[in-house]
Amino acid sequence: MSDATELIELSERRSAHNYHPLPVVIREGSGAWVTDVAGRRYLDCLAGYSALNFGHGNERILRAAREQLSRVTLTSRAFHHDRFAEFCARLGDLAGKEMVLPMNTGAEAVETAIKVARRWGYDVKGVPEGQATIVVAEGNFHGRTTTIVSFSTDPDARGGFGPYTPGFRVVPYGSAEAIAEAIDDTTVAVLIEPIQGEAGVIVPPDGYLRAVREICTERRVLFAADEIQSGLARTGATFACDHEGVVPDMYILGKALGGGVVPVSAVVADADVLGVLGPGQHGSTFGGNPLACAVGIEVVVMLATGEYQAAARRLGKILHDRLRALIGRGVVAVRGRGLWAGVDIDPALGTGRRFCEVLLEHGVLAKDTHGSTVRLAPPLVISEDDLLLAVDRFAAALRDL
Ligand code: PLP
Repeated sequence: MSDATELIELSERRSAHNYHPLPVVIREGSGAWVTDVAGRRYLDCLAGYSALNFGHGNERILRAAREQLSRVTLTSRAFHHDRFAEFCARLGDLAGKEMVLPMNTGAEAVETAIKVARRWGYDVKGVPEGQATIVVAEGNFHGRTTTIVSFSTDPDARGGFGPYTPGFRVVPYGSAEAIAEAIDDTTVAVLIEPIQGEAGVIVPPDGYLRAVREICTERRVLFAADEIQSGLARTGATFACDHEGVVPDMYILGKALGGGVVPVSAVVADADVLGVLGPGQHGSTFGGNPLACAVGIEVVVMLATGEYQAAARRLGKILHDRLRALIGRGVVAVRGRGLWAGVDIDPALGTGRRFCEVLLEHGVLAKDTHGSTVRLAPPLVISEDDLLLAVDRFAAALRDL
C-alpha cells in the first residue's frame, strides 16, 4: 500500500486521534529534506520538534547505530554493558556535571527530575515527607504523563485527565519575582524551559535565567532546566542556559540526544543531586541501553566540536533577519534564538494550521502551535541555500493565504 490517501484513511480508522498530522506521508529523509510516497520532496522545517538537529539519515549517527546494532542492543541495567560508562562520562563532561541518569523519552526524564528533586528535598533539605513543592511556569510544556499534565496550563493537554498530582505551584513565565514569591520551606525545585518551545518559542526577558539561578541558590532550591527542545545546539549554544552564563542544578535532555534514531533522554547533574537515588528507586528497561548509548556517544562527540552550535548561530541570524523582513507582510511577530523561530501569522489571514497546509503545498514542512503561531526549527545541517529557499517559500505561502 503506497497511496497517500489510502494510508491516511487507514491511519484515521486504526489509530487513536491524539494527533492531527498534516496530509503528507513521508517515505524517506536525507539531511533537511524528506520525500513523500508520491516522490515529492519537502524541506523539513520542524525536524521532529528538534529531535533531528543533525538531519535525517546523518551518516555518522547511522554508522554508530549500525555498528552497535550488529553487536548488542539491549542488556537491561541488570548488567553492565561496554557503552554505558563512556556515554555517561562524555555527556556529563559536555554539561560540566558529574553524573547522568539515562532514560528514553523527554517526559520520562522530566518525571525523573521531579522524583530526584523530591527525594533531594526530603533527604538533603529536610522537607517534611510528602510536602515537597515544585515551582513551574505558565505555558509550560514538559510532556504528557499524568503528573506532568497536572501542572500544565493548557486546557487541551490537562483537561479531563484528573485526578491530578499535587505539589506544583504555577507562576507567570518570565517573572523571577513571581518565582521568589512562590518559594517557601517546602520548595525543592524550580522547573522551567529556558525558552518555552510549545508555547510558541517564547524567549524570557534578559536576565531571567540568571535571576532564577540566584534565587534558587539563595533559597536552597534546585534549578531544573528542561532543555529537551532548547538544548544540544538548537539555540546556537550547547544549552540555552549558556546564553546567560547560567548553570542549572539539573539539565533535562532528550530529543536530539537520540540523533533522530532512537529515543534517548537523560537527567544530568552533580553527585550531590543525582546521588540521592539508590538501587530500586528508579529505572527503565530500555534506559541507557547499548544502542541508545552508542548513538548518544556519537551525538555528544559531534556536539563537543561546537560546529553545530556555530551553524545554528550563523544560519539563525539569516533566518531571523529574513523572517523579520516579513513583519507587516502577513507576519505579526518573530521570536526565537539560533535556528529556532516562533512566527506569529496575522490572524486575519488564517490560522497557523491553515498556513502550514499552504506551506506544505509550497514544499515546506512546519507545525503550528496555539492559534496563529508557526514554529520553524530546521535541522542544523541545512545548507544556507536551502534555508533561503525555505524562507522564500514561507513568503510565497503568506501571499497565497
Ligand atoms: N519537555 C520539552 C521542553 C519538550 O519540548 C518536550 C516535547 O516536545 C518534552 C519535554 C516531552 O518530550 P517527549 O515527547 O519525548 O516525551
